[in-house]
Amino acid sequence: MSTDIDINKKNDSALADDSNAHDTSDETNKNDIQRKVIHIDMDCFYAAVEMRENPNLKGKPVAVGGQANSRGVVAACNYEARKFGVHSAMPMSQAFQKCPQLITTPVNMDLYKSVSKIIHSIFQEFTDDIEPLSLDEAYLDVSDSSHCNGSATLIAQEIRQRIFASQNITASAGIAPNKFLAKVASDWNKPNGQKVITPNEVKAFVKELPVNAISGVGKVTAKRMTELGLKTCGDLEKLGLEGLLQHFGSFGDRLYNYSQGIDNRPVETDWIRKSLSVEDTFNKDLPNLESCLSEIDTIYQELLIRLERARQKQRLSAKSLVVKLRFNDFETTTIQMAGTAPDKEAYKRLCIDAWQRGQRPVRLIGLGLQFNPPDMPEQLSLLDECYSEEKPPPNL
Ligand SMILES: [Mg+2]
Repeated sequence: MSTDIDINKKNDSALADDSNAHDTSDETNKNDIQRKVIHIDMDCFYAAVEMRENPNLKGKPVAVGGQANSRGVVAACNYEARKFGVHSAMPMSQAFQKCPQLITTPVNMDLYKSVSKIIHSIFQEFTDDIEPLSLDEAYLDVSDSSHCNGSATLIAQEIRQRIFASQNITASAGIAPNKFLAKVASDWNKPNGQKVITPNEVKAFVKELPVNAISGVGKVTAKRMTELGLKTCGDLEKLGLEGLLQHFGSFGDRLYNYSQGIDNRPVETDWIRKSLSVEDTFNKDLPNLESCLSEIDTIYQELLIRLERARQKQRLSAKSLVVKLRFNDFETTTIQMAGTAPDKEAYKRLCIDAWQRGQRPVRLIGLGLQFNPPDMPEQLSLLDECYSEEKPPPNL
């Protein structure tokens, strides 16, 4: 019992120290949590898979799609074909006019889907917040990921390496504080490249950004912009919200936000969350139980923040509380109890029980929740509904 009292004292002082630190440094960040969004886009996906299956196609112009004589269209083509002006959604007959030596292969959707699923499972190793856009494209919100020390740039790099190692095809990535910029960035160093736009670079980046790089600006809008002399996002910003609404209707709103690098759309997942956890690996191993317990407050606060964020996306009802400890020899133990809400004191009790199992220095503490399955039937996976590859941007 006396241990309990000691522990609580230490915790109180740790909490006081912590809240002071937050007051001075992190207060502004709390309201405006900086997001880290990655847009991953496979390079000419269908064609890349076909070239992998048939290496003879490498270096030659290849289009995947229907036959020229049956009014087929190009579903996707490789970069060699694009050099001739071939692009997806183009009638195959026209593609042959532009590139008579074009090699065509039929669409093998089952194969592309199976590759897509593997790529998706690689994403899942880094984050649960995945929004697939098509078989070959997805947004990932890695704001909460602790992989690669939380570096979104390194996470993107590792994901691309993993995809290549496992599937022998390349991906490009954009890393930015929001979806709009992440998507623009993934096109920047394509193929097999990535670009980061840091929060500090956003203003300068969008100022010079050509308007046709904005997704949603189609031919008609682009023409209207040219007529109005609007070449860059900087020009859009100068025109102002009122002017943009006047010329582009409701799209003007979004354009005005984009022109300032703002896009508050969340990364929307269609999967059902089963658990949520926050883990902290310490620079120096925590030598004893007291030092472990004094870390619980900070981790607990972070858990509450992430739970709140997760609840904005879906309804979650907790069924159990989980504590994970990793000892200095990497042996890991988890312990859980029934519970419908996060409870700091309950986590502390679990931590005590978990620590008793090893009774030695600790390198990692995790606090988590497990959730009840929702009442609704499982949603269809978006992956199963996607059939078309996104059209390549006009400048590629
Ligand atoms: Mg693609």
